[in-house]
Amino acid sequence: MKGQLIIISAPSGTGKTSVIRRFLATHSNMLHSISCTTRPMRTGEIDGKDYHFIDEETFKKRIAQNEFAEWANVHNWFYGTLKAPLEQALKEGKEVLLDLDVQGGMALKKIFQGKAVTIFLLPPSPEELERRLSGRGTDSLEQRQIRLENSRHEMGFKNQYDHQVINHDLEQACQEIEKILSLQN
Ligand code: ADP
Ligand code: 5GP
Repeated sequence: MKGQLIIISAPSGTGKTSVIRRFLATHSNMLHSISCTTRPMRTGEIDGKDYHFIDEETFKKRIAQNEFAEWANVHNWFYGTLKAPLEQALKEGKEVLLDLDVQGGMALKKIFQGKAVTIFLLPPSPEELERRLSGRGTDSLEQRQIRLENSRHEMGFKNQYDHQVINHDLEQACQEIEKILSLQN
């Protein structure tokens, strides 16, 4: 069994979380890499399942102790991928789904060359992205504006990913990703 990292990046609100949840529900060999973040928990999120929610002091201690495979400041919060569970999952031959910003995506692509497939998920249009972000109802107006502003910069990285998939229809986007993954193995 060959372990693999499946790195998914996209502007906030495109549908990464929705895609990952769908794959986890239907693929028993896949697991979600649970990141650490200093962002406050949203309603409905579960600590230890969606993220490890930690304070800035703890996050910085983990950086100093070299516990992260990568970390980044995204939308004014810290986010990082823990090294130990990632390496353990690869050793066990798991397929690991990672929801990362473009800094993290590019960093892990380099570190795990040959073991990572990178997918950039695209919103159908900037207007639809804005609709999804506000429709999700989880972010303040200020956070939505930061996320929309950052989306322009993030879109500039799309060609550095191995594959681009438009999330127009969720089911169709998942099928396209399924096809990409089947060609890897
Ligand atoms: P991300 O993790 O990229 O920030 P989410 O998965 O949280 O994005 O999706 C943002 C919002 O858009 C959610 O309310 C989700 O239900 C919705 N959404 C996701 N994919 C689609 C789609 N293909 N069509 C319409 N709405 C979608
Ligand atoms: P959200 O706050 O919407 O859950 O995530 C915000 C952004 O942080 C998204 O672009 C998401 O992909 C990114 N992100 C989540 N976890 C990590 C991580 O561990 N590392 C990096 N670099 N980005 C992450």
